[in-house]
Amino acid sequence: DNHGLGSWTARRAAMSPGRTALIFEGRRVSFTELHERVLRLASALRTAGVRQGDRVAYLGPNHPAFVETMFATWMLGGVFVPLNFRLTGPEVAYQMRHSGAVALIQAQPASAAASIKVDLSAYEVFIATGSPEPIDVPVSLDDTACILYTSGTTGHPKGAILTHGNIIWNCYNLLVGVDVASDEVTLVSAPLFHVAALNQCLLPTFLKGGTSVIMPGWDVDGCFDAIAEHRVTWMFGVSTMYAGLSQSPRWATADLSSVRSLMTGGASVPEALIRVYQARGLAFCQGYGMTETAPGATFLEARESREHVGSAGLPVFFADVRVSSDLADADPGSGSGSGPGEVLVRGPNVTPGYWNDPQATAAAFSDGGWFRSGDLAVVDAGGHFRIVDRTKDMYISGGENVYPAEVEAAIFEHPAVSEAAVIGVADEKWGEVGRAFVVPRQGFDLEPRDVPEFLSGRLAKYKIPVYVDVVGELPRTGSNKVKKAPLRDLPLPDRA
Ligand code: ATP
Ligand code: MG
Repeated sequence: DNHGLGSWTARRAAMSPGRTALIFEGRRVSFTELHERVLRLASALRTAGVRQGDRVAYLGPNHPAFVETMFATWMLGGVFVPLNFRLTGPEVAYQMRHSGAVALIQAQPASAAASIKVDLSAYEVFIATGSPEPIDVPVSLDDTACILYTSGTTGHPKGAILTHGNIIWNCYNLLVGVDVASDEVTLVSAPLFHVAALNQCLLPTFLKGGTSVIMPGWDVDGCFDAIAEHRVTWMFGVSTMYAGLSQSPRWATADLSSVRSLMTGGASVPEALIRVYQARGLAFCQGYGMTETAPGATFLEARESREHVGSAGLPVFFADVRVSSDLADADPGSGSGSGPGEVLVRGPNVTPGYWNDPQATAAAFSDGGWFRSGDLAVVDAGGHFRIVDRTKDMYISGGENVYPAEVEAAIFEHPAVSEAAVIGVADEKWGEVGRAFVVPRQGFDLEPRDVPEFLSGRLAKYKIPVYVDVVGELPRTGSNKVKKAPLRDLPLPDRA
């Protein structure tokens, strides 16, 4: 019996042979074609020495080769290790060493990130050496399927172990909470080495027999084009991506009639952004999760999205999610109508721990096996979660807690602002004060002092940033999230 992820291509090829599994650069790949290529690749990898439990890495932009390498590895009972191709050489070398990968499939971008085209001629030769004979290596649902490195927003990326069971339960949670249908056309617009694109978009769509449209990299025009050309029904993006779409000159006239709902998460979502999408009649749904929970922890259902603007919704069906009553020891107390406290997650989607890192694993769980998210949330009486911020990003000004995400959302309401990031910096008088990095919208003028002026009366005085830097862009992770660590090292400007 084999009910692991490695059996999926065969099952789908048997159930819906002629249907389109993937669309990439206008080319359609059927479930049958995909399965046959995965069989050949698995056979070639086995001949090259890959055995059950071995780690196989993929390095490169989104491409069908990513999907093939993943399923071929799983078919052999191996562990798939997708790497962030934007990392530097030494960072990739570290992750290769740390994961102990025995094989690497590399889809090398032929030119700089601006136009991502990959050259895979050697890969095609390699696949052609394999045979399409059926392969069946039984795995247990507790076997490791992936080592997924976290985004590295707060430090070095950590290698989270996800088992076959973790990923499958996460798919079930998504299929229960979000109405993914068998005729879904999902736009995979985020990088596949990140948990959201892989486990929230590609795999649940595959499980239902829907079609994934794979974008090689994020680009606003490419996204509008793909939605119109392939009649895309849903996608996932972090807020930066959705802000980019809504601030584009094409926004007003873009054909979005095929879209049933849009999902966001992975970073805080300003309410002003949600309202822009709702004003267009779109269901804009927030989810909350992390690599370590495979990732879904809470979802806001489409039908609740207007009533609960800014909420990340309810706990997923197959997991327990609660807020700790006591921040100091994160002991899970009464979980409802409370907060802000740390979000704790327990369930079949939760990682068994970090690869080869017993210390980090021990630190990540509290008594009773609850995974500590490091995020703060409040839960209303109806059980809906509102994500406040990361514990690490909160700062204290004059004895008051300031949550940068709230300040960022308020700055985002300014019509000339494209994006904002706020951090706390040391201050002799107040202990800490806010420093805002603000990106103006194209064609708008913005002076540092405009920001405190705009916030005055909107936010309590202690929340208003004292320092403001108007910048051209913000530092980002490979998954397009704002990375605050580099901002903390910059010399202070004059007070705004
Ligand atoms: P690292 O753990 O390496 O510092 P990371 O935490 O950003 O990076 P991911 O696992 O990609 O790595 O992201 C999970 C985190 O993203 C959550 O812990 C939370 O801080 C943030 N997040 C996810 N969804 C939301 C949301 N809806 N609102 C606010 N923040 C969110
Ligand atoms: Mg994290």
